[in-house]
Amino acid sequence: MRFDLTQLGRHGRGDDQLDRTYEPSAFRYAGQNVDDEGYAIVAPVHLVMDVHKQAEVYRVTGRVDGTLRLDCGRCLEPFDVPVDTTFELRYVPASENEGEGEREVADDDLTTAFYRENAIDLEELIREQFQLALPMKPLCSEACKGLCPECGANLNTNPCECKPTWADPRLGELSELLKNAKHS
Ligand SMILES: [Zn+2]
Ligand SMILES: [Zn+2]
Repeated sequence: MRFDLTQLGRHGRGDDQLDRTYEPSAFRYAGQNVDDEGYAIVAPVHLVMDVHKQAEVYRVTGRVDGTLRLDCGRCLEPFDVPVDTTFELRYVPASENEGEGEREVADDDLTTAFYRENAIDLEELIREQFQLALPMKPLCSEACKGLCPECGANLNTNPCECKPTWADPRLGELSELLKNAKHS
């Protein structure tokens, strides 16, 4: 999953266009389970992008869409979300920036990415876009009831008989203090 930059300008043009679809199996870390990245890729990923060469720098604009599987933050069940996101990046050679702690801030506000060996790593690009598109707290639905704190049942599918006995932890601390106060 690399985009070879050397082919650019071969016909006297500094622009190129790419339109590719990748099966989930094309991704190195893809699986049917939500992995360490916090998601799994469960449908073909479609990538369209324009590459425009300006000397050593490549300006890349495009769009990624696909379907990701996430774990619900409340009930912990996996669910699928469609992702459709656009991006605009500036690719600079990795070697020029190695050893520098900070990325240069350019006037046009574009995010800077790095290419190596005259190629753009498309898996890295796509995963970066997925990371940015992920919700902070994934929920299978806004109305998700979550898990019963007593028995762990999924309250969406398995309403249980437990009575909620939620106690304010601060009250617990207070009663500890009172107990200790009595003993001293
Ligand atoms: Zn849920
Ligand atoms: Zn319960």
